[in-house]
Amino acid sequence: MSYFTHLLEGGYEAVHLLTDSKTGLRAIVGMHNTKLGPGLGGTRALATYASEDDAVIDALRLARGMTYKAALAGLPHGGGKAVIMLPKGPFDRVKLFESFGRAVESLGGRYITTEDSGTSPDDMEYVRRHTKYVVGLKERSGDPSPVTAFGVTRAMEATAKHVFGRSDLKGLRVTVLGVGHVGMPLVKELHERGAKVWVSDVNAASVEHAVKQYGATAVTPDELLRMEADVYAPCALGGAINDTTLPLLKVKAVCGAANNQLLTPGHGEQLAQRGITYVPDYAANAGGLINVAQEWAGYDRAKAYARAERIFDTIDEVLTRAKASGLRPEQVADRIVEEKLAA
Ligand code: NAD
Repeated sequence: MSYFTHLLEGGYEAVHLLTDSKTGLRAIVGMHNTKLGPGLGGTRALATYASEDDAVIDALRLARGMTYKAALAGLPHGGGKAVIMLPKGPFDRVKLFESFGRAVESLGGRYITTEDSGTSPDDMEYVRRHTKYVVGLKERSGDPSPVTAFGVTRAMEATAKHVFGRSDLKGLRVTVLGVGHVGMPLVKELHERGAKVWVSDVNAASVEHAVKQYGATAVTPDELLRMEADVYAPCALGGAINDTTLPLLKVKAVCGAANNQLLTPGHGEQLAQRGITYVPDYAANAGGLINVAQEWAGYDRAKAYARAERIFDTIDEVLTRAKASGLRPEQVADRIVEEKLAA
């Protein structure tokens, strides 16, 4: 791969390759656009990258996603993301993440890290021993998932305004796939707002909790995808909207927390053709990023929720512009970001 061509074509600013021979650290920090502020994005740690090129491409792709998520949410941050290629054999996790902390510090604040797939709050404690450029710490903002769930609820209310002509969720039929860290508090929020909720998860204990605590109805994943409802909220894995699932859907809107819900842009087009309103995932699920950005600014839970509240206005604007322009919501969201970056 020609790195310079890839960076130039994708509008990336930099890729940092950071190593430590003592700990076996092999980390990549991808930087996309930092016009609006320092890059803020999690660290993904995996042992399964097929090649170094794959890891670099992943870090850059994820960094680009952070530029868009931060800009659309109106945060003073840009796109940065880290990938650690974990050693295949045994290694000292504490020392590895401490050395990653030193590597993050060496970037002088251009990049602020936090937790992501494959890293834990404990890992961030080791990182923090050697850098101040880390957020999502246990005794500061803690788990961002409830804020993410609150933001998704606000996104759903804005969606209801456009699709059903009312912005309350009372009686709305919502299906939630995945009742984990975000899905569960989302079910709670929906229950409190009087929505009728159906849930499915491979984890039976989580489903039981949603049923007992929040009056949800349990169904199998297949039943959930096929059932007639108003809104489908994917809250498990990426690629939830694909060739297998899309033809089954009998909903009017898709609005959930999962990242990268559309397997390909073509699936967004197919949703639109079927008259299903797709709420761009990175707009709806920005609450977690809002929470850690608030930690960077000086954590205040009320301020984080106040900003997440504004996800309603973002979705309202996206859906209004989509209707007026004939573009799909995800295209409009990208356009809003590109306008902000060009301004
Ligand atoms: P999680 O791992 O806590 O929850 C995911 C849930 O989905 C689990 O309960 C799991 O059992 C279930 N699941 C997995 N595969 C399934 C399947 N095939 N069928 C049914 N259920 C399945 O993760 P999370 O933190 O709740 O995140 C969920 C999604 O939201 C992810 O895509 C994540 O990237 C995205 N997201 C999370 C946050 C956050 O604040 N946690 C913020 C933004 C985006």
